[in-house]
Amino acid sequence: MRAFLGRFDVRISLAYGIIAALWIVLSDSAMALIFAANPSMLAVVSVYKGLGYVLVTSLALFLLLRVELRKRDRAERALQEDIVERKKIEAALRESEHRFRNLADTAPALIWTTDSTDQVTFLSRGWYHFTGQHEANSLGQAWLDALHPEDREHVRVSFLDNIKTREYFQVEYQLHSPIDNAQRWVIATGTPRWSEDGVFQGYIGSVIDVTERRRAQQEMQAAAILRTDLEKEKELLQLKERFISVVSHEFRTPLSVIYASAELMHRYRDRIAPDRQDQHMRDILSQTEYMVDLLDDVLLVNIAQSGRLEFNPSPLDVVIFCETAIERMQVIDRGKHNFCLTHTGDLRLVALDAKLLQHILSNLLSNAIKYSPDGGDVRLDVCLEQGDVVFRVSDQGIGIPAESLPYLYEPFYRARNTGDIGGTGLGTAIVKESVDLHRGVIACESELGVGTTFTVRLPVTSRLQTDLSQP
Ligand code: ATP
Ligand code: MG
Repeated sequence: MRAFLGRFDVRISLAYGIIAALWIVLSDSAMALIFAANPSMLAVVSVYKGLGYVLVTSLALFLLLRVELRKRDRAERALQEDIVERKKIEAALRESEHRFRNLADTAPALIWTTDSTDQVTFLSRGWYHFTGQHEANSLGQAWLDALHPEDREHVRVSFLDNIKTREYFQVEYQLHSPIDNAQRWVIATGTPRWSEDGVFQGYIGSVIDVTERRRAQQEMQAAAILRTDLEKEKELLQLKERFISVVSHEFRTPLSVIYASAELMHRYRDRIAPDRQDQHMRDILSQTEYMVDLLDDVLLVNIAQSGRLEFNPSPLDVVIFCETAIERMQVIDRGKHNFCLTHTGDLRLVALDAKLLQHILSNLLSNAIKYSPDGGDVRLDVCLEQGDVVFRVSDQGIGIPAESLPYLYEPFYRARNTGDIGGTGLGTAIVKESVDLHRGVIACESELGVGTTFTVRLPVTSRLQTDLSQP
């Protein structure tokens, strides 16, 4: 009933009925009162009132109908326009889909799309050609049947996982191709599609055959490995050659000294004065020691390069360690150079490997005295810089040619300006290995005829802060 009364036409009709009834009753009663004494006048006025009433209601009806008809016209026109517009959109959609299919079918890559429920809804013609599948048995998830059985499950899982992220993804897998009845490697990529108002629409992606690219990459990798192997072999050969030439050269002098002294002692022992005999014995001993040292160095480099050199840090008093190293060097140097040791910072209990540090300092200091003229200064400056212990060994010697700096730490490498100063070229290789084991760095600055400074920076892995002065 309420719905019935709520209708526009019912409400208008009711309102009209009530107003008309009231008008008739009230106006007739009023006129009956006014013209009670003049019935002929009442009849005339009643006729005019009736005519006026008909005129007014006809006009109102006319206006209402006019408004209603106009409204209906407008609605009809809008509907027509809507239909035309929708038809246009449908035609544009069909055209765009046709263009997309054409593009997808002729593109070099295979194209696919999914709907928002992750089911494949389209595969371009290339897919069917490439895999031998048909549209009826490839959409949804049936496209997975074309994959190599080994790849099927993991691709299914990774495809679904990737798709869940709603982000760009890439997977690589093998497809069985009936074209050449072989497995082909492909890369599939997918990009999410979003509507203008941000609703996920599914994915669009491509599949590219990368079999040839992979083959070329594998061939290039194999060639690169072969090249590195060959380079390594060449390097090894060069190393062997350098080893033979250096060792034979370095052994010749001590061996001839040993041979000469031993022969003299053997043949003419009775005729040689005791102090000369002592000298010959000392020569034999010192030259043998030199050869043993040399062999030790060769062995050490070999152990280091095969990764068998150990790193055993323990708390060291770096200052005492350096003082001892300088004292030893002074004994070897026999007063030919002026040694200077400086240190700053608390260097008392620093965790370093004593053996390796000994290799570092002895080789750098021995180079400093070996490659600088008598009377020159040899400095060892030690300090703490940003948590590293820094050792600087400098001399005022012959310097190192710039072109030699990149090869300085290669075993058996010696610069061209060493002249007749003896050496095997193993010292700096040992230093470098020892620094590397500490995870430190070494740098060299040098100027020909001016001097050389080696800077070794060793990180302090665990520094014991115990104050020695405390009981
Ligand atoms: P050894 O194995 O007996 O130490 P070496 O001194 O020739 O022989 P390295 O200590 O490895 O070998 O040094 C390699 C080369 O670097 C040296 O031959 C020399 O040319 C150059 N060199 C190293 N230190 C210095 C230095 N302080 N001044 C000048 N040249 C240096
Ligand atoms: Mg040396």
